Amino acid sequence: MSKRALITGITGQDGAYLARHLLASGYTIYGTYRRSSAARLWRLEELGIAEGVTLVPMELLEFSNILRTIEQVRPDEIYNLAAQSFVGLSFEQPIYTGDVNALGAARLLEAIRVLQPGIKFYQASTSEMFGKAQEIPQTERTPFYPRSPYGVAKLYAHWATVNYREAYGVHASSGILFNHESPLRGLEFVTRKITAGLARIRHGQQEAIELGDLHARRDWGFADDYVNGICLMMQQPAADDYVLATGVTHSVREFFERAAAAAGFDVAWEGEGAETRGIDRRKGRVIASVRSDLYRPAEVDHLIGSADKAQARLGWRPNVRFEQLVDMMVQTDMDRVSRGTLRW
Ligand code: NDP
Ligand code: GDP
Repeated sequence: MSKRALITGITGQDGAYLARHLLASGYTIYGTYRRSSAARLWRLEELGIAEGVTLVPMELLEFSNILRTIEQVRPDEIYNLAAQSFVGLSFEQPIYTGDVNALGAARLLEAIRVLQPGIKFYQASTSEMFGKAQEIPQTERTPFYPRSPYGVAKLYAHWATVNYREAYGVHASSGILFNHESPLRGLEFVTRKITAGLARIRHGQQEAIELGDLHARRDWGFADDYVNGICLMMQQPAADDYVLATGVTHSVREFFERAAAAAGFDVAWEGEGAETRGIDRRKGRVIASVRSDLYRPAEVDHLIGSADKAQARLGWRPNVRFEQLVDMMVQTDMDRVSRGTLRW
């Protein structure tokens, strides 16, 4: 009989890629969505798997609903990807972010303990937990120092995962994933904001892109590579924690430059700090400007990960390089705008 996986957050970027991976491995997939909002199925549709998954309404804030869902679905594995995943918004909605990201994971773990401790559990942890980085590069042993309500909440969920593994023997793994992007990334994240924005400028649908801190750096990988790593973690006989990262960082400005070139612009920078402007030399017009209110109240420091443990134990390594990732995202957004299918 095929294994049954319950994926929370199946309507998000990673949920879509994970569902595709698991379907290809013969799993039966149940994905949870929030009944309060219209299920956003465009990612599953773009991957051509919307028909292959069973959607079940489940609210992470409601313990009784989680219990009933797990009783009905009887999953072998639960992948907890659902979260208020945008760091910027977590400064505006810290309590809600804690309820979903921290207590949501605790509710799932507690439901597993009560109902069926044999269910395997994956928690979507994040490099944001390292925040004010205590060493470079960051590994599974680096002390945490989160710098946002998002990071604080995710750290609670991470330790809850470790605790249920140690206290109750649950096969619970935490993947500490550095930023991973794709053509399916949400538009609120800087990478997609840039690639979709450039495609729209190219087609005369937008004047320029307003950005925050251009000097912020991230270790950006490709989401589908990282989802492959998640699957490898869950196949291990013993649960554990793993960092997934590329080990290479780039600034927002470098991302913009690469993306602009891929979209056919020739960008030159003028000004400093909040006065910085990105000019397209070919047309002599501004295509990027900085807005200081888009800066974060607190930034994370030098986030750069070491995936040595994942490579040694799981045989995992990222396949897609930064340049390929940026080009793929620009190309997809250019195609979407030409076809009129960009969901803006
Ligand atoms: P997305 O933002 O694309 O997806 C988030 C998912 O969570 C969506 O399906 C969303 O549903 C769901 N969700 C949001 N709020 C709630 C809620 N209150 N109750 C139930 N579901 C909710 O995120 P990603 O796919 O990029 O990330 C997946 C996970 O990995 C997240 O937990 C994220 O924090 C974590 N992560 C991501 C990284 C990245 O770089 N992408 C890096 C490290 C960790 P809806 O469609 O209804 O909004
Ligand atoms: P995060 O790493 O999960 O916070 O991913 P984001 O894509 O939201 O942000 C990555 C970095 O880009 C952060 O350091 C932001 O401060 C920086 N950044 C600069 N301009 C922007 C912007 O306009 N939007 C977002 N989301 N981030 C920006």
